[in-house]
Amino acid sequence: MKNSVFRIAVMPGDGIGHEVMASALEVLDAVRGKVGGFELSPEPLVAGAAAYRDTGEALSDEVFERARASDAILFGAMGLPDVRYPDGTEIAPQLDLRFRLGLYAGVRPVKALPGGFRALRDPRAEAIDLIIIRESTEGLFASRGKGVVEDDREARDTMVITRPVCERLFDFSFRLARRRKGRGGKGLVTCVDKANVFTSMAFFRKVFDDRAREHADITARHHYVDAAALDLVRKPWEFDVMVMENMFGDILSDLGAALIGGMGMAPSADVGDEHALFQPAHGSAPDIAGQGIANPIAMIQSAAMMLDWLGERHDVASCAQAAERIEAAVAKVVGDGVVRPVDLGGRDGTAAITRAVVAAL
Ligand code: ATP
Repeated sequence: MKNSVFRIAVMPGDGIGHEVMASALEVLDAVRGKVGGFELSPEPLVAGAAAYRDTGEALSDEVFERARASDAILFGAMGLPDVRYPDGTEIAPQLDLRFRLGLYAGVRPVKALPGGFRALRDPRAEAIDLIIIRESTEGLFASRGKGVVEDDREARDTMVITRPVCERLFDFSFRLARRRKGRGGKGLVTCVDKANVFTSMAFFRKVFDDRAREHADITARHHYVDAAALDLVRKPWEFDVMVMENMFGDILSDLGAALIGGMGMAPSADVGDEHALFQPAHGSAPDIAGQGIANPIAMIQSAAMMLDWLGERHDVASCAQAAERIEAAVAKVVGDGVVRPVDLGGRDGTAAITRAVVAAL
């Protein structure tokens, strides 16, 4: 049978984006050698803050079109503190890609690896396995570039919640909970909102309830965002899929990352109906760039999410198996204490962690 070949747009970006991307590509190459049945054709693309500084364009039309034409986008990190647009805002092509490609579902897994880092001492924290779904194309971020300041006296940003995006987002969340239930998950979706105060949030909840009726096999619950923050620290093991507005997801997903070892351990995906982008939750970390100490695990796990998504979308079982192999290898090196990343108080840098994951494959 002919192998499936997937075109991957590879966008390392800035800072440690280059270092963790090199690591993920090495792991992808190694896993492909172990699990046949598919091939990856990576296409390196230049975009980000350094690209803006050098060429005047952070994300050229040509690069955008190539990314759009790919089967999946693998993304490092973009942005540098001293490179800004003339109005002072940061260079963030990842936000442009989310909006322009309709990547409405920001998928942020928060999973404790057995024996791995845990912020909570409670033994039940071993069982943390939740996914935050952050709406990524509207909410408060719809105001990006459109906020107003009047007479240096008053500033306003506007929250936008639309029914079509919410319906797709909630359907995505229920489908994900169903898939997880098939693998032993709780079959639970929690809508996180502030419906007791804001009209937009009451509408968000209403659309959630409408869609929940169409997914009666999955338990649907509500949680106010402030209580959700409390319970994410008090008893995060009780959650399964949590779905929320863009800004709430921005904040709570960092809280989630802290539960399992911080930004170097937090993968993510931005998924739409036609396209998907996979990147670690962290930024370009200019404070440690070029030192070889960046933790590549979040990037490697994001690459595994990409294989899982490609496998499911194109019905290529070997691709999903390769994703599982990477996840198992990461769990092994972290759980067995084979490596101790520098950001978790250890001494192992990017190259040592990459070598250990490849060996564990
Ligand atoms: P952004 O706004 O783009 O998310 P940020 O400036 O908020 O970025 P990061 O670039 O993620 O934040 O860095 C936050 C801190 O976490 C920094 O001290 C950085 O060194 C550290 N950090 C982030 N990612 C990693 C990593 N993969 N390995 C080690 N340390 C990391």
